[in-house]
This record gives sequence, C-alpha cells and structure tokens, in this order.
Amino acid sequence: MSKIIAVAELRDNGLRNVSFETISLAKQWDDESEVVAVVLGTADSKHGQAMIHAGADRAILVSNEQLHTPTAENFTQALMQVINEEQPTGIVFGHTSIGKDVAPRIAGRLNAALLSDVVSIEGQKQDAVFTRPIYAGKAFEKTQGKTETVLVTVRPNNIEVLQTDSSRQGDITVKEVELVDLKTVVKEVVRKVSSGIDLSEAKVIVSGGRGIKSADTFEMLRELAELLGGTVGASRGACDAGYCDYALQIGQTGKVVTPDLYIACGISGAIQHVAGMSNSKIIVAINKDPEANIFSIADYGIVGDLFEVIPLLIEELKQSLK
Ligand code: FAD
Repeated sequence: MSKIIAVAELRDNGLRNVSFETISLAKQWDDESEVVAVVLGTADSKHGQAMIHAGADRAILVSNEQLHTPTAENFTQALMQVINEEQPTGIVFGHTSIGKDVAPRIAGRLNAALLSDVVSIEGQKQDAVFTRPIYAGKAFEKTQGKTETVLVTVRPNNIEVLQTDSSRQGDITVKEVELVDLKTVVKEVVRKVSSGIDLSEAKVIVSGGRGIKSADTFEMLRELAELLGGTVGASRGACDAGYCDYALQIGQTGKVVTPDLYIACGISGAIQHVAGMSNSKIIVAINKDPEANIFSIADYGIVGDLFEVIPLLIEELKQSLK
C-alpha cells in the first residue's frame, strides 16, 4: 500500500492548525494511500491521537531531545530516517518557516520534485495537479510532480480541514532517532513578547502601514485587533520606519497571511505587500488617498484619516460588545 507522510508542527506543546491541513491535502491527493502523520520532537501520544482524529491512519512520534528546538538540520536528519523506513510516495509539509527550510533539503536528498506554497489540489494520485501562486501572487501556476516521491508544502489556511472524528483509531508509535554530527545546536530560544496569536493562522489581522506615523499608533491598532479577537500585522513601510518589529511584516519578504478579515490602515497597497495578504477573505482598507492601490483589492474601502476612523471603530465595537 502506498503511503503519504503528513508532517505535523508543534508550537507551545500544541499542534499548529496547518498540521491538520497537511492531512487533509494528503487525503485529497490519494484517498487510498495510508496517511502517516509524523510529529517531530514529542513522545506525547495526545499529538498522535489528534492527528489520527483529524484523518491520519497512524502516527509516528519522532523523539530526540534535540528536536525540541527545531532546526532545519535536526529535522532533516530525523525525517530522513523515517522516510527511509516508510518509503512514502508523497510528503506534505506546512509552508511555514520550518517547512520551507526542511522540504527543499529532503527533496535534494531524495532527488525528488518539490511543489511549494500549494493552495489547492485537483485530481488524484499521479494525475494530481497542484495550484500555487507565482510572481508574488500575480498569477497561479498549475503543476505536477513527476518523481517517485513528490514533496508538497501547503500554504496555511487554504485547505479545508476534515471534520475531527474522535472514534478514529490508529497505531501510534514512538521512534527514537539518533542525530549525529549536528553542525549547530540551539542552546536557548528567547521569545519576543507577542499577542500569542500566530499571524499566519490568525482569523483577524489589523495591519498598519507608514501612514500610522508612530509606534504609539500601533497600540491603537492593537486595541482594535483585540476587540475583534485578532492580532496586528504591518507593511514593510511601517517596519522600516521603526513603528513595529519586522516579525510583523506581511508581504513578499514577510509573512503570507489568509485571515477571514484583514484591515489595512495607512497602507498604500504596493504589490510586495499585496502578495502577502491578497488571499484574505475580506479586505477592509482605510486610507486618506482615494487613489491608493489598496482600494483596488479591498472589499470595503474607507477614504479617510485613520486617526479619526480607527477611534470611531473602537468606540463602536466597545458599545456593541457591552
Ligand atoms: P506607503 O507606500 O508610504 O503608504 C502609506 C499610505 O498611508 C499611503 O497610501 C497614504 O495615503 C496613507 N496615509 C498616510 N497618512 C494617512 C492617514 N492619516 N490616514 C489614512 N491613510 C494615511 N512591503 C511590504 O509591505 N511587505 C513586503 O514583504 C515587502 N517586500 C518587498 C520586497 C522588495 C524586493 C521590495 C523592493 C519592496 C518590498 N516591500 C514590501 C516594500 C513595498 O514596495 C512598499 O514600499 C511598502 O509596502 C510600502 O509600505 P506602506 O504602504 O506602509 O507605505
């Protein structure tokens, strides 16, 4: 029986949502293959169980102390040991920092096709056609992998996850791996303070551009985001001006986001920014320039001064939440 490996990702000892999308894509790719979830860096069976409830047929928990702090090097080594044993025809990763780093290394070692940043799939098995954005989201490419094993990275928030079925059963095995000759070892990770919501998985994002004019205004955006149950993002203009951290940058050289609601405040809508947010379900733009490019992709546009509009929105929301 052929197999597809779905690579799960952990954060704060919980599975990231994209893990469930890897399973969903694997099932759509070949519903007769065995879908094997691989969770690296844990020996906690609850993670394997959750992957099986989400549609995997079995789960492998790959354990080694070094894997608690993922690096491309230790993940690649550990995964290669699983791949050599399982001989999958397909491997699905999240299109996340670690997925983007590890998948090409594995593809290189296997001399296999890698289709990255996939947003949808049509057809099945060898006939499966994967769609991925190219030219910073200006066009979409339909592509097929023609090697014995094909690797795919899936853009978060694009593949509908399967309904959880807690009655699903499957084997969960722990695989101890040996990692040898690691060239880098992470000693400590010092986290930046954040709202706790991962930008790439956020449902609501309030984003600030150069038009916000100061770091203080960012706190106003944060208040609006929190009222909406979301988080804040930024254009490179805002990051370059020092209004916020580069970790918040959305766009071609920043994060790619697909929230249900994206509110762009004082952002002109440069192509490099749009590349990171144009797949948002609803886009609201607040800009004082009626000719700003952001209005050409917005579902709702507010032509006005953000320093007047945002306090009004905050006030209105507070009233309605009372
Ligand atoms: P601006 O273009 O300066 O726009 C500010 C906007 O604020 C204007 O439209 C203005 O009308 C409005 N405004 C001003 N005051 C107010 C007010 N009081 N109320 C309402 N509106 C107001 N950019 C990204 O964002 N992400 C990327 O990943 C990225 N990658 C890049 C990669 C490369 C190789 C290059 C060359 C560029 C990249 N850029 C990226 C930069 C990009 O080209 C733009 O320069 C940047 O997005 C502009 O940011 P901005 O819209 O905040 O600023």
